[in-house]
Amino acid sequence: MSFTQLSQSYPIARKEHICIWCGEKIEKGEKYYCYSGIGDDGFQTNKVHLECRIAMDKHFSFDTFDDEFMPYEFKRGSTEQR
Ligand SMILES: [Zn+2]
Repeated sequence: MSFTQLSQSYPIARKEHICIWCGEKIEKGEKYYCYSGIGDDGFQTNKVHLECRIAMDKHFSFDTFDDEFMPYEFKRGSTEQR
């Protein structure tokens, strides 16, 4: 599986979203991290909590051999698996 990031932003949620990292709700009015790019399934846009974005950074720099993750695999704001 590969992923090429094309854009990223920090918008304010205008409706509820589901965080790709932890599977919990991103509430309306909450600022979140949004990134999009081309993966194996084509164009995709992922949304994550700000704290999950930080956890994501840790995950990717701690474990350079495995830079992929399964959606909803982790606890919110943590690199610990559910
Ligand atoms: Zn999250």
